[in-house]
Amino acid sequence: MADIVLLGAPGAGKGTQAERLVEWLSIPRISSGDLFRAAISAGTELGLRAKGFIDRGELVPDEVTIGMVAERLAQPDCADGVIFDGFPRTVAQAEVLDDLLADMGRQVDIVADIRVAEDELLRRLGGRWTCRNCGRVYHREFSPEKVRGVCDVCGGELYQRDDDTPETQKRRIQVYLEQTAPLQDYYASKGLLAEVDGEQDIAGGFEGLKQ
Ligand code: ADP
Ligand code: ADP
Ligand code: ZN
Repeated sequence: MADIVLLGAPGAGKGTQAERLVEWLSIPRISSGDLFRAAISAGTELGLRAKGFIDRGELVPDEVTIGMVAERLAQPDCADGVIFDGFPRTVAQAEVLDDLLADMGRQVDIVADIRVAEDELLRRLGGRWTCRNCGRVYHREFSPEKVRGVCDVCGGELYQRDDDTPETQKRRIQVYLEQTAPLQDYYASKGLLAEVDGEQDIAGGFEGLKQ
């Protein structure tokens, strides 16, 4: 049983490493970004509320995000632990996550802080292609799919996210520094922060974990 938070700027490789951890630990991943994108393509009320914020590169308000994640966390497959990818992104979200897990007799066990320099973040986001069906990410240069435009795993169509334009990428990194980076101190003060050198290749993954 483990509850793991992946922290890191947009493009740091949270989704990519989360996929690997899912295989390794056999616990599910909760990606708040994937949940929002699914809600948007399903045209739900939640999707409608979130879309404008996402398109502008701003965070979706805490109450909307927290409600969505809490609902997902209550599903039976999350009973043995979860990999949190992209949540929490504010101190308020982190505090609520602590409460939600405490109610389940659990706690955040470790926070992997994936560190990547800004120019490399922009290279990664600029070449990112995402599967419309399963959400798996590829990179034109660093991690290409086998057949151009087609997901290796599910055969779905690959697309470039609307919020992966150069302006929105820069805004998202700025939002990360302002609103999410304070979580480094929040978790460090609890002794939970593990720094990861995110500049290694994908397979290097958590071998970059510094203790
Ligand atoms: P990235 O992989 O680039 O970090 P995500 O897929 O995690 O992006 O998130 C995409 C967008 O969804 C964010 O820019 C933000 O608008 C919204 N979002 C995702 N997670 C959260 C969260 N925990 N709190 C608020 N907004 C979020
Ligand atoms: P995040 O979820 O943190 O926004 P992603 O996992 O979506 O990051 O990765 C962003 C892009 O960078 C994707 O195109 C992915 O294929 C690529 N990528 C991820 N990790 C690495 C790495 N270690 N080296 C090179 N490219 C990477
Ligand atoms: Zn797919």
